[in-house]
Amino acid sequence: MIETNYNRIVEKIREINPVSYDRNRNFLDGSITKLSPYIARGVISTKMVMKSLLERNFTISQSYKLLQQLAWRDYFQRVGQHYKNLSTENIKNNPIHMVNLGLNNSIINANTGIDALDDGITDLLESGWIHNHMRMYLAMLHGNIFKTDWKSGARWMYYHLYDADWASNDLSWQWVVSANSNKLYFANQENINKYTGSNQHSTYLDCEYSDLTLQKLPSHSSIYSEFEFISEMELRQNFKSKYPKIIETKDFEFQTENSVVVYTPYNLDPLWRSNEDATRILYISTNELIQRPMCERTLDFIFSLAANIHLDYIIWGDLSEVKNIQNVQLIVKEHPLFNFENAKVDSRDWMFPRIDKYYPSFFKYWKMAEKELKK
Ligand SMILES: Cc1cc2nc3c(=O)[nH]c(=O)nc-3n(C[C@H](O)[C@H](O)[C@H](O)COP(=O)(O)OP(=O)(O)OC[C@H]3O[C@@H](n4cnc5c(N)ncnc54)[C@H](O)[C@@H]3O)c2cc1C
Repeated sequence: MIETNYNRIVEKIREINPVSYDRNRNFLDGSITKLSPYIARGVISTKMVMKSLLERNFTISQSYKLLQQLAWRDYFQRVGQHYKNLSTENIKNNPIHMVNLGLNNSIINANTGIDALDDGITDLLESGWIHNHMRMYLAMLHGNIFKTDWKSGARWMYYHLYDADWASNDLSWQWVVSANSNKLYFANQENINKYTGSNQHSTYLDCEYSDLTLQKLPSHSSIYSEFEFISEMELRQNFKSKYPKIIETKDFEFQTENSVVVYTPYNLDPLWRSNEDATRILYISTNELIQRPMCERTLDFIFSLAANIHLDYIIWGDLSEVKNIQNVQLIVKEHPLFNFENAKVDSRDWMFPRIDKYYPSFFKYWKMAEKELKK
């Protein structure tokens, strides 16, 4: 079971070794942090991790690679502020190679014929987390080998991930298929064997890069289906039985003169405004779950993380339905998907708060970040 206790999560930050991270982070068994479920859910921030590295006297050069990866997260969030429709619209190019729709059955059933990727899919379904390289491989297989529209693959992966994050997920998928980059990402069997530790040969990916799209694919990989996500209504019913504290927004009314601090699945920071006298709510948005479905296990994880916060209410639906919503002062942490009229908006804990413009490439953003680091 994944850790959800706040103090133990914070301990994990102190255990990170950025030097070994730098050496082997691309390998499936490398010294990666596995902090994404907590960073994506806003329990801890990229800034907190950066601060801890520097306080433990790791130099910038020792922490360089990890700081850069952490900055990818902040960069994607900045892009998300600029492109609110990034789940449905290609942000840079409109690639034409993705001629199929839906999800390839060989991906749904974890029988793509590439053993390491089948293990990766099984792992995703069973554990709710996979390595960055595995995510890239699967997005490549779906988008660039099976030539399927990236959006169905992105929704499927998001559905299963503990760390499901609209910006990191959808922009990474767009990057792999060249909707958010200038070329398609490919990996052949040799590359997959190297980073996953597999030793498979004679597959449809076992060839030179230039021949990857010319290979004969297994016959069963021509079958496509719509992946069946749990519906928002079924999820709501299941959760209402499990968590009797949940109230639907249409049945809810605030009984408070205090400000109302709003937590969401993207902001579960127990320290945020924790000393204030306020009413605290966890808000589960119906609309968000319809647009980006989430599996029951991920929502359970979110509820367990929320147990670190002294919540007064868990409300589910559409916040604007709450009868006396206009009579309370809402306070939120900035997030492009959660904008409420007249709410007070606190800043995210950015690593580099001053770099707040949109940069079309990560490396331009990182160049600015490096200047801030050297100050
Ligand atoms: C197709 C695809 C889909 C992805 N979907 C998601 C997603 O839904 N949610 C999500 O959190 N990440 C996503 N990522 C980014 C990345 O794979 C994960 O953040 C990372 O694997 C998490 O493992 P870690 O915490 O051990 O990362 P580490 O390698 O230990 O890195 C530390 C932290 O840096 C940040 N980070 C590292 N790599 C990236 C990256 N490529 N992009 C953005 N931030 C990064 C994360 O916050 C991570 O926790 C996706 C990547 C790809 C290629």
